[in-house]
Amino acid sequence: MELQRAGHDVVLVDRGPPGGDQAASYGNGAWLSPASIMPMSVPGLWREVPGYLADPSGPFVIRWRHLPSLLPWLVRFLRAGSNWRKVEICAAHRYRLCRSTVDWHLKWARPAGIDHLIAREGVWFLYRDRSDIEREAREWKMRKEFGVRFSEHDREVLIAREPALAEKYGFGIRVDDGAFIRDTRSYCEGLVAHFCSEGGRVVRSTARGFEIAHGRLTHVVTDDENIACDRAVIAAGAWSAELSRQAGDNVPLVSERGYHVVLPDVTGHPQMSVILAEGKMAVTPTNRGLRIAGQVELASLDAPPDWRRADILLAFGKKMLPGLQGVQSPDRVERWMGHRPSTPDGLPSIGTASACADIVHAFGHGHSGMIQAPATAQIVARLLTTGAVSPEDKAFSPQRFAA
Ligand SMILES: Cc1cc2nc3c(=O)[nH]c(=O)nc-3n(C[C@H](O)[C@H](O)[C@H](O)COP(=O)(O)OP(=O)(O)OC[C@H]3O[C@@H](n4cnc5c(N)ncnc54)[C@H](O)[C@@H]3O)c2cc1C
Repeated sequence: MELQRAGHDVVLVDRGPPGGDQAASYGNGAWLSPASIMPMSVPGLWREVPGYLADPSGPFVIRWRHLPSLLPWLVRFLRAGSNWRKVEICAAHRYRLCRSTVDWHLKWARPAGIDHLIAREGVWFLYRDRSDIEREAREWKMRKEFGVRFSEHDREVLIAREPALAEKYGFGIRVDDGAFIRDTRSYCEGLVAHFCSEGGRVVRSTARGFEIAHGRLTHVVTDDENIACDRAVIAAGAWSAELSRQAGDNVPLVSERGYHVVLPDVTGHPQMSVILAEGKMAVTPTNRGLRIAGQVELASLDAPPDWRRADILLAFGKKMLPGLQGVQSPDRVERWMGHRPSTPDGLPSIGTASACADIVHAFGHGHSGMIQAPATAQIVARLLTTGAVSPEDKAFSPQRFAA
């Protein structure tokens, strides 16, 4: 839509239905938060990895069979967070992509008539007690310095908002300018409907590559037709690596697989959307029921889901809200697995392709793609319209991985 507004005729090629369950955007934690500045790789993480791997119910798992192919990515990932200076630089770049995420989403949600799906109620991090956040003190200090607004609350405030909250949660931080999406599927569908009403076209097919003549893009090749065009944007989430290779770049991209469960019989509570720091998962009230989303599972794109990961989320959810026991009939729990498109350094790949300046990357947003989508669209529109790359945007360059 940002490209439409800039005057381009836009065709969206997707092999699945926009907003369908093949996409990470369908089933994520639904958070829009300006506080999502931290990359996953931080100093000391390597010390925790063995513990994570030894705990089958923990939030992070590597499927051992896939370790050899994942190893080069993992080495780069751990290196990216090897000292706090690197993390601070990365956080500053991430902040530029997320600082006004809610307002940037509303810019498109309002004309699309779906702004009611954005719940502007803040988002919460829950802890056992105040001392729990000491381990994250550096991260919260950074957020404060960037200007993220948040407030700290004791248990009285938490139970006033959610009386059913388990006793062990005694402290919470509210990201005051955060929001959550009440129905991610309908949200994506609403955006695409608006895109079509403004003259956009959706082609349901698989993109395979590009035709380039004399250095200029002439067609995008799909399974069904070759689409004539003079610009193309690679935004195929975790499946973008092959297309970007064809456009001359070798971006190290893996799927950090995540899961969700939705309890359709649980509606109306909790009213707030929370991240449980100990389980690293988001618990969000949606129009389709209570969604519990999280887990990081490193395995290949085509490995079958391991539904035990979803069961872990459900068990955690019941510990957080003991009242959930028995409320949900087990055969109506929806389980889903999706692919976070993740680069090792916690930044997306946004910029022109090596083989042809008419092709632009817009993928690799890892854990924060919904949050960072509008800012990414602004950069892509600027690139395609003026060719200009600001000095700061060079941090997202697809070519940084070749160095
Ligand atoms: C459990 C979980 C929780 C998360 N929580 C949050 C959160 O709270 N907030 C947040 O901002 N982010 C969150 N994320 C991350 C976020 O969901 C992703 O970063 C984001 O959805 C990626 O968007 P995308 O459009 O790049 O990829 P996707 O949403 O995966 O879409 C990619 C699309 O490309 C299509 N496609 C792929 N290959 C081709 C091809 N060759 N031809 C045509 N079409 C193709 C697919 O069909 C798909 O529709 C979470 C992710 C997970 C898994």
